[in-house]
Amino acid sequence: MSIKEETVAVPKSGLYFTGKDVQQARRNIEIYPWAREKYEALRRACDEHLQLSDEHLYRVVLGMKDATFAYGISGCPKCGQPFPLELEDQLGMFSSISEWPRKTVTCPHCGTVFPNEEYPDDGNGLERDGKAYYLIGMWNFYHAGLLFGGVRNHEGLVTKLVAMYMLTGDARYAKRALLLLDAFSAIFPGTLGPRDFTPFGSDFEIGRLHLLTSIVHRVKVWLAHDYDWLYRLPELDGPSPALRQLGREGTTRQNIETMLNDYMLTEPGGPYYDLTDGNLTNLQNHEADGVRAMLAVGLVSDREDYCKWGTDSLTAYFYNAIGRDGMYFESSYGYSLFTASVYLDLALLSMRAAELYNWDIAHPFANARFFRFAVENPLDMLCEGHMPSYGDWGADRRIGKDPDVKLCLDVYRSAQFFYRYSPDEVIRMKAGETLRLLYPIVESKLGERSSELFLPHNGVHSPSGSRLDKKRHFTVMGQSGVSIIRSSGDTTALMRFGRNNTHGHDDVLAYSYYAGGKEISADIGYSVYGTNAHYGWASKSIAHNTVVVNQDEGMRKNQLFKIFSGGELTLLYSSETVAAMEGDATELYGECGVEQYRRMIGLVDNERGGHYVIDFFRVEGAQVTDYAFHAFQSSSTLELRHAQPSPRKHWTLAGVDSPDKLYFDEPGKSLGERLTTGETFVPLLPGEEPRLWTPERNNGYGFIYNVQEYLPDQELVYAVWNSEQQERLHWFGLCGGGDRIFTGLCPDLEGGRKHAILVHRSSRPVVQYAVVTCLQHDARQRMPVEGVASLSAEGRHVTALAVSLPEGYTDYWLYSPSTQTMKLLVQGQEWTVTGRCALLRLDREGRVVRADCIQAQSMSYGDYQLYGREDKWLTIDQIDEQSGTVWVPERPPLKGDTPRFVRLRSPHKGASVVYRVNSMHVFGNRTAIQLTDSLILSKGIVRSVTDHEMETLYPLPLGVAEKGKSPFAGKRIVGQRGGLGTIVGVPELKKLQIQVVRPFTAGEAFDIVDLEPGYELQWL
Ligand SMILES: [Zn+2]
Ligand SMILES: [Zn+2]
Repeated sequence: MSIKEETVAVPKSGLYFTGKDVQQARRNIEIYPWAREKYEALRRACDEHLQLSDEHLYRVVLGMKDATFAYGISGCPKCGQPFPLELEDQLGMFSSISEWPRKTVTCPHCGTVFPNEEYPDDGNGLERDGKAYYLIGMWNFYHAGLLFGGVRNHEGLVTKLVAMYMLTGDARYAKRALLLLDAFSAIFPGTLGPRDFTPFGSDFEIGRLHLLTSIVHRVKVWLAHDYDWLYRLPELDGPSPALRQLGREGTTRQNIETMLNDYMLTEPGGPYYDLTDGNLTNLQNHEADGVRAMLAVGLVSDREDYCKWGTDSLTAYFYNAIGRDGMYFESSYGYSLFTASVYLDLALLSMRAAELYNWDIAHPFANARFFRFAVENPLDMLCEGHMPSYGDWGADRRIGKDPDVKLCLDVYRSAQFFYRYSPDEVIRMKAGETLRLLYPIVESKLGERSSELFLPHNGVHSPSGSRLDKKRHFTVMGQSGVSIIRSSGDTTALMRFGRNNTHGHDDVLAYSYYAGGKEISADIGYSVYGTNAHYGWASKSIAHNTVVVNQDEGMRKNQLFKIFSGGELTLLYSSETVAAMEGDATELYGECGVEQYRRMIGLVDNERGGHYVIDFFRVEGAQVTDYAFHAFQSSSTLELRHAQPSPRKHWTLAGVDSPDKLYFDEPGKSLGERLTTGETFVPLLPGEEPRLWTPERNNGYGFIYNVQEYLPDQELVYAVWNSEQQERLHWFGLCGGGDRIFTGLCPDLEGGRKHAILVHRSSRPVVQYAVVTCLQHDARQRMPVEGVASLSAEGRHVTALAVSLPEGYTDYWLYSPSTQTMKLLVQGQEWTVTGRCALLRLDREGRVVRADCIQAQSMSYGDYQLYGREDKWLTIDQIDEQSGTVWVPERPPLKGDTPRFVRLRSPHKGASVVYRVNSMHVFGNRTAIQLTDSLILSKGIVRSVTDHEMETLYPLPLGVAEKGKSPFAGKRIVGQRGGLGTIVGVPELKKLQIQVVRPFTAGEAFDIVDLEPGYELQWL
């Protein structure tokens, strides 16, 4: 190995990596083959780059002054296909910088080389049919990204050169890195950011160079780190060659520090915030990125104020952006993983600032809530190895049950930080275990990020390697309101019953369904914010497998989702055969007078290794309900049986029963048919906008086209979806009087795929949807369900079904909205159930094979008897907030599994909440239940306070409710100087309405605490 033993590279302060980390990197390169490979690749890339002359490189970079930069989301102007946006897919598309001044882009689909005579580009792009194309801008974007760092979180060549300098001490690398920093710094201030998201010719400011809004801040961390290690080079205090070539004056140091401090503390073109004086506005990931840049630049340029503001913000991020369940507040899991990477840097940089200025702060890597968020939760959230893609995140088209390598890599990196820095023995031990567990999964991908090269690993073996595959039947995240059930076969369902927040879709009580290594429920997904597909279609309820009430007529223009402060988990059950959950979200449609909106989903294994899904969705008090369903991420077709087509009078779902003729309600004109590359409409019709536009009725119905209406001619309608891969999904749905079934087609984000969709509409005031679905992976496989029949049971509002399985088995289901005694005559004998939901499986001879009191105290069938858990609430008489322990004056239930979750509710009012049980101890007739979640919902510092209102310094994204009820209403607010009160509402992010019990003072820190003695507890 050609690493010199003695290095001359010394950082100014070691803001990201220190000399100790360089020693660690050398050990890693010695020990781990992947590290050696990455090091060799790094060296080759840097050495190859050094072949270019300084002069040439200055000309290339300074030639981008005042140029356009663009992702190229409009696609190819010639063939219309989208261009790949991921770096690894872009190989060969762009001419190299050694060929400069040639700047060309080659379409990977049609092979056309741009610009050309037909498509000339003078550097400012061109416009065709109302669409803007920036061909030279794409070249600039690509190469600036490679050299300076970029959008896909990749480190730029400047950072790679610095890494080589750190590892070898070779000054050639340092000088070239400095040249790149100098050249880019000279053209950076005052640039506008990529042009894809603004109208053609607009000079709207939306970032810097090729970096869109918060990505500027992301790259700054590495640039500050680069500058930290180059800080002592004598050239820095000489005149800047880049400035001189542009006819300006100044030293290289001034040039670089001006760049670092440009686009600081706020984010022109992005969401509004202003970090001046340490002010926090909303805690969104953009703002966190801004704090990260502020800390990094503060550390390298001796801005103590920046360091102080950044370090003080940690409490807000750890307690107000992360909930008691360790979940991030935004309603997209993908964003949570990205945010974890930002928080790791915030923690590291705050730790450095505290060391530098001798501040006494709580050690960020000793924070259990942060550890759960960054390391533990992601593995708990896996669905058949997939990362849940609900909310704003890419459509999940991955095939396979192996754990998502990208997610594992993110978790691995997080664990490295805790393993290296945590002073808490338990956290360090858990982090070390996670490293060992994940190493074999991520090994082949390691080395892309500097942290993997410079931070310690923990051996290469996985002594507990089977843990990831261990069956975790449930995951329930109690504050964010996500529930996951897993059957003992290869299938998983996820349902969101929690609050709608930033980056969410209107998908409450929809279920994501995973089977055979695929996401079958086919969420349309997300790619670019604010496109017509995002605003008008993919975010809408009808695009998800859920029930839409009254056609979502209350949705305003450009509204993404309904205001919803969260519902309840009302049932959780698992046995060898069945895993079930039930969510209630009645308040979602509370404003329309809906009295119940509740869904139970069960995954049921048959006796032959197959499975089916049972789905009871109940809505009371609606005028019209639309149960929507589609399946498969590939294009699909749909056949319907037991229903008669009725004459067509409409083309889109929006056209059905519309009193007026809609301009898009005819073949070729629907919104769905015109959705194309760039997630916009071609052609654009009068009155429409290419972006940030929704139709007059913002419910997504105009995107569903080729709509055919059917009237059921039996009590049960049967539908089957056929995917392009020959998979089938069978759907059996119970119908009532006057129900109508619609079939149609709907697009993916860019209109390339056409999903067959079914909408079951009912106008009954009380509607109980009951659906059985099952999957056939290929035509040879036997159908897991042979038929479904509706039965008539004794009791009020009872639904009874018989599901015929292969080889003569039959499942009988009873489901009711309230606890009662239900009776059903089954094969000549009475089956009696006291409760709400139960399953009885009989074989061909009528013998009981299995039975489940899913939510029932008892059942009997002939001589057969079974007891379930009592539906009982116990009063909590003691709480220890420090350890998160609650006491109840009873012993744990004898029936069913040891409870892993408990439901808790206030004796006064309000919805119940779910907590995970960490451990239980029985003392005589009392049980102490130690909860995994902390009881602290959020924290704050009093800015000002009156008898009824308090302003706080920290935003409260987990509690805010501008309209509707706050999830914090009724909770205690406990001050550290003796203040005490009850929260009435959270009308703004930093404003609380309170009832004061004991007065608070300005500057007083407080906790918002869940639970208190008198709360009631139910075993789940
Ligand atoms: Zn093309
Ligand atoms: Zn969605």
